Amino acid sequence: MSAPTRAQLERLLDAVDALPPSDGAPSWPPVLAVEEWRPVPGWEDYYEVSSLGRVRSLPRIVPHWRGGTARRPGREMRTHSDADGYVVLSLERMGQRSLAKVHRLVALAFLGEPPDGRPFALHRDGDPSHNAASNLYWGSQSDNERDKLRHGTHQEKRKRHCPQGHPYSPENTYTPPGTNYRQCRICRAHQTAKNNAARAARRRAARPTRDEEPA
Ligand SMILES: [Zn+2]
Repeated sequence: MSAPTRAQLERLLDAVDALPPSDGAPSWPPVLAVEEWRPVPGWEDYYEVSSLGRVRSLPRIVPHWRGGTARRPGREMRTHSDADGYVVLSLERMGQRSLAKVHRLVALAFLGEPPDGRPFALHRDGDPSHNAASNLYWGSQSDNERDKLRHGTHQEKRKRHCPQGHPYSPENTYTPPGTNYRQCRICRAHQTAKNNAARAARRRAARPTRDEEPA
């Protein structure tokens, strides 16, 4: 089982916060969502995908390298994030590999085939790692363009700190003219100081010192 992402943990905490107040009865563990498993369309004998966006392989019989066959147990599949933040994994059968996006597998299994003109599996909340069936819908090309824009800007804007941990407060945020991205002023100042020190060091190294000058 792969470690939950920060976004998944935050959603879990939000869901716990949203539970009705306890009347004194033990309330743990809360039932957050029922997970349903279905075969992955096109891979029915090999993989199942869940309504919460997990993928598992089914037990299968494979040829053994020493001859005969071996039974390989099913397991939850390890996933990765691609450069756009989509959760991807490698599916394999009979030595052939195929890279799949998990949100598409969930959509195909739980929403059915995409309707005409709406071939894109999209996220309602704009979070590409939130692959619960309830968060997905089939969208058109223009829905997809809008969604991509939302991913890029939202994901970036949701971050409240620079990579070094300084807050993106109004005083500490610099937006270069003509751009829409943010720079941390503290980090910019550090970088400028470092550049200046390096330049001064290069100048010192290039200039002969008084001791080395001929008498
Ligand atoms: Zn910073």
